[in-house]
Amino acid sequence: MSLKEYRKKRNFSKTQEPGESKQKRKSAKLVYVIQKHDASHLHFDLRLEEEGVLKSWAIPKSPPQEEGIRRLAVQTEDHPLGYADFEGIIPEGQYGAGKVATWDKGDYLPLEVTSFKRIIEINGKKLSGKFCLIKLKAKEPQDKNWLFFKLKKKD
Ligand code: MN
Repeated sequence: MSLKEYRKKRNFSKTQEPGESKQKRKSAKLVYVIQKHDASHLHFDLRLEEEGVLKSWAIPKSPPQEEGIRRLAVQTEDHPLGYADFEGIIPEGQYGAGKVATWDKGDYLPLEVTSFKRIIEINGKKLSGKFCLIKLKAKEPQDKNWLFFKLKKKD
């Protein structure tokens, strides 16, 4: 996993977003967080700890709290672990300018992980239960579009 793209997009003398090595792991549990990001378009950033970084997806609409709601989730660059605690304003003119606030936070359990699919159990306050993230075009590595939805209890 590399944070090269994360680094490249940001000027750390101008944004208060965390650099790479600020955060050490706090527990054995894997971090789950969704941040509400009031950028040029309001969206929600889903982040899941995986192999020392936060895998990230931008969800243009409100995250799926109930079964039957499918949301587009566009994969974005990996973020450093410390980003899970970031809240604040990214200054005008900087990448992602706008307000970032925690929308939901907790931990998660990976149940099935492949390059194009994640079945996870989320333990958050707003999202809780089994969820699926699945790539729309499994055979196109460049394609960033995934679907994110809650699974039925019996699945
Ligand atoms: Mn964002």
